[in-house]
Amino acid sequence: MTLKFPRLPIAEGTADKVLRELGFDRLPIDPTAIALNKEIFVQPAPSEMTGFSGMLAQYDTQFGIMFATHIESEGFRRFSIAHELGHYYLPGHVEQVLANGAHKSRAGFGSSDPYEQEADFFASALLMPERLLKPILNQHDDGLELVHAISDQCVSSLTAAAVRYARVSRSAVAVVVSRDNEVEFCLFSEAMKEAKVRWLKRGTPLPSGTLTSRFAEDVAKIAGAKSDSYSVDLSDWFECPASHTVTEDVIGLGSYGKVLTVIYSSRLT
Ligand SMILES: [Zn+2]
Repeated sequence: MTLKFPRLPIAEGTADKVLRELGFDRLPIDPTAIALNKEIFVQPAPSEMTGFSGMLAQYDTQFGIMFATHIESEGFRRFSIAHELGHYYLPGHVEQVLANGAHKSRAGFGSSDPYEQEADFFASALLMPERLLKPILNQHDDGLELVHAISDQCVSSLTAAAVRYARVSRSAVAVVVSRDNEVEFCLFSEAMKEAKVRWLKRGTPLPSGTLTSRFAEDVAKIAGAKSDSYSVDLSDWFECPASHTVTEDVIGLGSYGKVLTVIYSSRLT
């Protein structure tokens, strides 16, 4: 069977089951320790190997994970290992992704392949389990402040932390990652979906006049990981049935050349 759509509840639920079975109940979660528990070898790739995040290979009954090192980020490496564990644990993945030998991944929510998407959502639930995020969600205000707190305590990239925040928050949250003034991906929290807001497809230009579209013009701000915040009407960003004043937080993702935007309101009423 080949998947047409990612099964996000299965991806996230499987990650939760793995953590419970192994008794992992403190942050940060160590994905290498989870691999070793299954006697999966984990090793770094040479830094000249680029264009991928990680690799899963099988020799007889033995599995091995190789993670990319060309990007200097602990969060990226941990996410890459967790993504490969997703291919190992998720139903139907080994048969599909290892059908033609070792599997090379591009982790990080940029892929339209449902297997890659499931492995990404497995990885984010594995490294940022909902029950361990609850105290962080309760202690911090919505928006980038919360994303930073999740990223710090879970040792995850800001993008992964923002995506996970949108998956577990009860607030209305939209996460948009863009590059060169175009949307790479956009993800909504449940409260945002309930307000019948239309999300933006990959490749859509950033809505003109928004803080993010002005911020994206400034390469130095992106490279310097600067941030900014402004209040905005939700309808300036998305097609939606009603007008809502929300907050738009934006931060440059440094060497990635990307921009992360978090648009949020505690409730849309
Ligand atoms: Zn993959």
